[in-house]
Amino acid sequence: MPPTPSPARPPSARPSSARRPLGHALAGLLDVLLPADCAGCGSERAQLCPACRHVLATSRPAPTRLPWTHAAAPYTDPVRQLLLAHKERGALRLAGPLGEALGRAVRSALGARAGAAPLLLVPMPSTRSAVRARGHDPTLRLAGAAARSLRRAGLDVRAAPLLRHARPVADQTGLNAAERRRNLHGALTVLPPARTGRAGLAGRHPVLVDDLVTTGASLAEAARALADAGLPARAGATVAATVRPAG
Ligand SMILES: [Zn+2]
Repeated sequence: MPPTPSPARPPSARPSSARRPLGHALAGLLDVLLPADCAGCGSERAQLCPACRHVLATSRPAPTRLPWTHAAAPYTDPVRQLLLAHKERGALRLAGPLGEALGRAVRSALGARAGAAPLLLVPMPSTRSAVRARGHDPTLRLAGAAARSLRRAGLDVRAAPLLRHARPVADQTGLNAAERRRNLHGALTVLPPARTGRAGLAGRHPVLVDDLVTTGASLAEAARALADAGLPARAGATVAATVRPAG
């Protein structure tokens, strides 16, 4: 990231932080203070330049190794940089375009079933310490943006954070697929109805959503937790998927 300071944005460009929890206000402030270079490629004075916006908008949803999960784009630059800027650096305005990409992956994963029943996007939960450290819950924010984008397209979609961690889990980095499954088994649980207002969500078909799928171990554990609660996931969808080299 170049050290040159960028010109301040007009006040109208600032996300409204009034009446938001402190974490959101802080994340919004970080968004304003960030240099205005493109978060995807570092060029130009826009947080998301036209070229990177085009990559995000034209990536075609592709199935991953999990048959029921589709991703909107490969986890390569600039999509990787955009996800990291949103998740780790509080670039909150990227939630809109990233959420649209996630919405396309939802439609792609469901295929003809996309409009057949009201949908409930269930984000993969962040740990409380991660939410504290980042100042926001990026996956919940992406789920909300995806639901809005699908509603604009005429679908009946809501997003609700139904899942939480039942116990601490080790950092997945560096674990292979089998180790990830062992680390995660039984790690997630569904919030009791009173905590989520689940009554209002009855009859909706759950779709698991996340920013990134790598081995699919987290999504598989989330699917197990939902199924155990009598809410089987109809599909999974992510903004990006890691792509292994051919061969
Ligand atoms: Zn760019």
